[in-house]
Amino acid sequence: MERRNTKFIVIEGIDGAGKSTQIKMLQDVLDKQDRQCYFTREATDGPIGSILRNTYLSGNRKCDERVINILYAADRLDHITNETDGILQYLINGFDVFSDRYYLSSMAYNNYMMLPDVDKLTDGIYNTTDMNYVNMDLLKPDLTIYIDLDPKNAMSRLKSRDDDQSIYETEEKLQKIHEAYDIAIDILWNEFDEKIIRVDGNRSAEEIHQDILKIVNEILED
Ligand code: ADP
Repeated sequence: MERRNTKFIVIEGIDGAGKSTQIKMLQDVLDKQDRQCYFTREATDGPIGSILRNTYLSGNRKCDERVINILYAADRLDHITNETDGILQYLINGFDVFSDRYYLSSMAYNNYMMLPDVDKLTDGIYNTTDMNYVNMDLLKPDLTIYIDLDPKNAMSRLKSRDDDQSIYETEEKLQKIHEAYDIAIDILWNEFDEKIIRVDGNRSAEEIHQDILKIVNEILED
């Protein structure tokens, strides 16, 4: 079956940028409209995503960063294609799909440690796009919304958030991941013709929500 005019929208940003907060606020509004929406996230709650979260992202088992990169690519392929709850199934069945993170996250997170060598970082990002070749071929987002938050603000928000820490939650790492996002976004924009909109995350949740709602309504009506 063909996909009709349904949209796949990705929300991106460093840890603490406000992705879950904004997705929840968006969900509250969209649930009241008559479109069918499906909200999902990466790493997924499926088997590969669970290994990623519980074993590697939690720091319970240290590993070569490429293990994480490959697991994310595999988790994403299942996320896209699974016949039970894959994104393509939802899109075909008339749902607009919103994902908290997608391959832009892999490009930024799996390569930030190459910094300050921008050439190495750029090579790493291309390796990640190669690793995600099938995913990019199967499903590009109709739109990626990047919540751009100062890593200092992210750290202070994360300190007050009460949940499992990830291996990426230090200010030094978040600074680099933030920088890696900028380079990855440029590559996706210029070379893969992707549509990415930046939203200033250093504001109140309500102000950010109003911006995101406007952008989402425009793309859904397109
Ligand atoms: P992410 O999903 O991107 O990691 P969260 O949505 O979990 O980020 O937000 C991280 C923390 O910051 C949470 O405790 C959340 O309540 C808080 N937060 C989210 N958005 C804002 C905002 N605009 N201003 C201040 N605090 C925020």
